[in-house]
Amino acid sequence: MTEADFDTLAIRGGTERTHFSEHSEALFLTSSFVFDNAAQAAARFSGEEEGYVYARFSNPTVTMMQNRLAALEGGEACVATSSGMSAILSLVMGTMKAGEHVVATNGLFGASQQLLGGIMPKFGIETTFVPASDLDAFRAAVRPNTRLVFVETPSNPLTEIVDIAAVADIAHSAGALFAVDNCFCTPALQLPLALGADVVVHSATKYLDGQGRVLGGAVVGGKPVMEEVFKFLRTAGPCISPFNAWVILKGLETLRLRMEAQSANALALASWLEGQAGIRRVYYPGLESHPQHGLALSQQRCGGAIVSFEVEGGREAAWRVVDACRTMSITANLGDTRTTITHPASTTHGRLTAEARAAAGIGEGLIRIAVGLESVEDLKRDLMSGLQS
Ligand SMILES: *Cc1c(COP(=O)(O)O)cnc(C)c1O
Repeated sequence: MTEADFDTLAIRGGTERTHFSEHSEALFLTSSFVFDNAAQAAARFSGEEEGYVYARFSNPTVTMMQNRLAALEGGEACVATSSGMSAILSLVMGTMKAGEHVVATNGLFGASQQLLGGIMPKFGIETTFVPASDLDAFRAAVRPNTRLVFVETPSNPLTEIVDIAAVADIAHSAGALFAVDNCFCTPALQLPLALGADVVVHSATKYLDGQGRVLGGAVVGGKPVMEEVFKFLRTAGPCISPFNAWVILKGLETLRLRMEAQSANALALASWLEGQAGIRRVYYPGLESHPQHGLALSQQRCGGAIVSFEVEGGREAAWRVVDACRTMSITANLGDTRTTITHPASTTHGRLTAEARAAAGIGEGLIRIAVGLESVEDLKRDLMSGLQS
């Protein structure tokens, strides 16, 4: 897909107008739909006739959001969900059964790790976690019963890159589905389906909304897989609210502009951080010093908007930097136009044991910044005051 195609699809993809000919897409706040007669009701319920029935199954605003996002990801179909976690749950419950196995990367989003590692085993689905950049570990982990390979790239907060095309080959030789959580890059920067993935999942709560307003999620992929995901969703009900879908539909219109501007801010901040005293290491795929810089830029258009760095002086020094911020928000959320700063060891990764944190590379001096759209000079000023105190 060219940039021009993307831009037009982001604005116009999926739009359907009512007989009022509204220019901006309508928000349909209705839980159900009426039928012309009993025969039509029967045909709609049996699936003989296409059309809306009940909003747990579908709603026109939700359909528009799904079709726009499917177009941007280059997928045949999309199912929107109430949150990113319910997207992942719907993928697992829709496509897997007891006795099957998942291979996933270490350092997945905390709740994803908990879902796969802590909850799914109760239902007979086991997960093996492997390091994101170790292809041999993926090869060694797949088993005859592996049904799903699930990765996030870049990883959070250490920005490790998964080689999407190589892992796609490993998954497919094992007869497994390959799913990528594309939350951090979004389709504006990375198109996993074009690189060989079968499924993309999203927390639309992050960059797709882009202004920290609503929760939402999505699964995008080929029709057969999406039918399985949809069967679970329409029965179990983790569907998105039409209002949230409408906010996300509107968010998609500015996605590429935001992702590019926020990534440019992130690159400027990361390069500047590398030159500051008191910094041990900066983690950002857009920097030449990143060990997988070449791989990152071969599959994503730029470094993205998440920058992590390790300060000297451990937790005390890291908290000083966080507490000195006047512009950035101290919050664990990301994907917002407002820059956020987090100390992972005491928040997102705070429940892990100290050993588990160390094994995951989450040091006491580590800080994660999800860079927004404010002036980079204000962001630097925030960090400078904490680094110098
Ligand atoms: C936030 C997040 C999720 C979960 O999304 P919710 O919308 O909070 O349920 C999943 N994966 C990644 C990478 C995330 O950042």
